[in-house]
Amino acid sequence: MTNQNIAVPDVKARIRMAIAMAISKPEFPALGGFLAISQKKLLKRLENGGGRGGGAKVSTWIDSMRASSPTRIKSTIPISETQEKSSWILHHPSALNQFEKIIQESKGKQIIMFLDYDGTLSPIVADPERAFMTKKMRAAVKDLARHYPTAIVSGRSRNKVYKFVRLDELYYAGSHGMDIKGPTKSHNYNKGNQGVFFQAANEFLPMIDEVYKLMLEKTKSVPGAKVENNKFCLSVHFRCVDEKSWDALAEQVRLVLNEYPKLTLTQGRKVLEIRPTIKWDKGKALEFLLESLGYGNSTNVFPIYIGDDKTDEDAFKVLKNSGQGTGILVSKVQKETSASYTLQDPSEVEKFLQHLVARM
Ligand SMILES: [Mg+2]
Repeated sequence: MTNQNIAVPDVKARIRMAIAMAISKPEFPALGGFLAISQKKLLKRLENGGGRGGGAKVSTWIDSMRASSPTRIKSTIPISETQEKSSWILHHPSALNQFEKIIQESKGKQIIMFLDYDGTLSPIVADPERAFMTKKMRAAVKDLARHYPTAIVSGRSRNKVYKFVRLDELYYAGSHGMDIKGPTKSHNYNKGNQGVFFQAANEFLPMIDEVYKLMLEKTKSVPGAKVENNKFCLSVHFRCVDEKSWDALAEQVRLVLNEYPKLTLTQGRKVLEIRPTIKWDKGKALEFLLESLGYGNSTNVFPIYIGDDKTDEDAFKVLKNSGQGTGILVSKVQKETSASYTLQDPSEVEKFLQHLVARM
């Protein structure tokens, strides 16, 4: 095995500095402070309601989660909505229909692929532990990685997403990019840089672990609620929770989070995600990986990022703002997005990947 602890030195130094700045802001006191209070005491305090009103906060989270979790597509759409939809499709056309245009845009540049996992390579299923990708999809990603550097960028822990994908030739960015590792199998395009290894928020591991245990305890009263420990962040899954109980579950999450101001919350498809308040996201992971591959300031690179959720928007924004490459949103319904193109579902993603391989 190669030495996975060696990152590209310049990149590592620069990123370390960025992280140090992000977590040394005055509003973040020493990390130890929160661990001083015993779990028992904390649970007791939470039983008493935490003492702070948060009804408005909870309903904002739920509204935002609902917006990113469409349960079905309306069969009859009023005319104004139809017009709105066609204008949306005009601005975010199908990446399959526009495949040749995308290839034209990438001409003379190195394509680098970034793929989200849940909802992009695998369907969204009720049990997040069973979000398997198909054999055909795995074969498509394997073929893709033969020709283009390919990274999986997921909210799951790096180990978990690797267990689903099981391809050694890929880069993996788990925990929303806070945990990055290069491929263990080398390729022609990795000119000795595959030993990338980077963890953005090591200091937060004890806190995340502590909050995971608390969250398990506090959410067990809500049937169907599931808490997933993604190492550097947590997911509270609403997929199997009756919609009538969403408010109750979100309230439990709020009560725990109230005690940990150094953690923040984001909403996704039937999920609330808790992560460290550091300026690190899928967009930063994309930039880090581009630098690691030697394309930091290059104009000869064309990154393609495919994702389906709110957290992928950080990566879409990086591409849009830099004018490099393109973002592709996986969605059957219209959503506010910084992506340029769309694909309807994982089976269209598979076709798109196959097209990319076929043009080589
Ligand atoms: Mg996703």
